[in-house]
Amino acid sequence: MIIIFRRANRHCEFSISATLTSIWIIKSDQRHNATSILRYAADLSMILTKQYEISRLKSLLENGELLASDAERCESFEILNISGICDAPYWMVDNLLQQIAQRHKDIDYVIVTGDFESHAIWDYARDTHQRMIRNVSQLIKSHFPDKQIYFALGNHEGVPLDSFAPSFTPEEFHMDWLYGTVADEWKPYIPADQDKTIRFNGCYMVKPWPGFRIISLNNGLGDSLNLFLFINQTDPDGTMSWLSDQLLDAEKAGDKVHIVAHIPPGTAEALEGWSLNYYKLAIRFENTIAAHIMAHVHSEEFYVIYEDPEDFNSRPVDVVFSAPCMTPYSRYNPTYRIYTIDGKYDGSTYQVIDFEEWIMNLTVANQPPYDPTVEQLYPSILKEYGFTANLPSEWSNMINQMKTDDTLFNQYMRNFYRRNVYPVCDAKCKASWLCQARQAHHSKKLCSDIPDASPPERDPKRGKWYSKKRGSMTEEQIRNSVTKFMNNPKRRPKGQCPI
Ligand SMILES: [Zn+2]
Repeated sequence: MIIIFRRANRHCEFSISATLTSIWIIKSDQRHNATSILRYAADLSMILTKQYEISRLKSLLENGELLASDAERCESFEILNISGICDAPYWMVDNLLQQIAQRHKDIDYVIVTGDFESHAIWDYARDTHQRMIRNVSQLIKSHFPDKQIYFALGNHEGVPLDSFAPSFTPEEFHMDWLYGTVADEWKPYIPADQDKTIRFNGCYMVKPWPGFRIISLNNGLGDSLNLFLFINQTDPDGTMSWLSDQLLDAEKAGDKVHIVAHIPPGTAEALEGWSLNYYKLAIRFENTIAAHIMAHVHSEEFYVIYEDPEDFNSRPVDVVFSAPCMTPYSRYNPTYRIYTIDGKYDGSTYQVIDFEEWIMNLTVANQPPYDPTVEQLYPSILKEYGFTANLPSEWSNMINQMKTDDTLFNQYMRNFYRRNVYPVCDAKCKASWLCQARQAHHSKKLCSDIPDASPPERDPKRGKWYSKKRGSMTEEQIRNSVTKFMNNPKRRPKGQCPI
């Protein structure tokens, strides 16, 4: 159900961004002695510029001028009348970045949480991934030429999807092609002493300000769909050990840390082994970690971490935030979020104080005069949900309150989808989302008071992967599976422009 619109052949190098899960932009606010972070997620379906209004797109589709195979996966032309389903075309990403840069001139730095490719996963190849990463990275740089930009890897960077081969695998599967590409492309923003680390496991640490660190964590090495982890998921390439060492080092220095990663630990695409280790580190270093910044799920979500990993009545320790995404896949309005954090002065906690959210309303954008101007979804999450402060206890209480307060739950769902009309969520659906918010790792005990709770079905077709037992495949089976994908004759020839 995905479509990627691409430009004409002469612009093939600009082919599309795609998922681009989220971009955070940080800015200072001297009045409040605080710093704001803007998290940008775009989505877009097919719209957004006057020269590409719906009628024009329909014409392109009907004349076969857009990628036919992708168009077929867009279900039908009727999707042109609704928001979402398809990924973000280049011009939409460009437009939204331009609006962000113009609207928020006081930003300090940008964080991008990965997924540079579209959902056209049958079409993945190492060379096109490298081109897209360079292309999108350079596009973001062009809109924020005087800002620092810190990137993280997403699961779509893998070829095949979700595949991040640890160094124990045969050399032909090693990730030098990806880690080397990002090390080169993101070099202006990464300290020289981190070059060796990012080329080894895709992780790095930076110190934007005194007393403040950002850790970019590649959790493709904890991805439940990473075939290579079916062989051995024990701390691949020492990633979790590296994170633990980084946090201990920050603690000794008295620094605060924002962890930037892609897949939230409680979701189906995070291995429980990885999630629980991450959860325990979050508890152990609660006084050092000031924010958990993640993405991947496309919807607006949060996950509470409790002091006892098996007891939701224990003290809420922290919250993992997953901001909305740039792509409208599936049926979301493009969104970005601005976080205000306590920062940039001696003794800063760097905690998130508040956040606001802005959307690109695709229904409006698809109507004359086809103006994709962003609009504010809400100005303050504290006011939106009546919080006294952005505290883990407030988020935990909100889950409890939503069990019986449908008005509050519907308000959450509206923000979840970023539009007033969204799919009906019955009692079982509601129970699943409430349980999800409790699960920063996978434990049914955290939902024992929520009847009928089960993991939300984001994509039922993937169920067979989620149910597979780890360690059930041999190295030879993995090799054959990956080789079969890479040699699939249905994939377009290497280097051929897709349009
Ligand atoms: Zn993702």
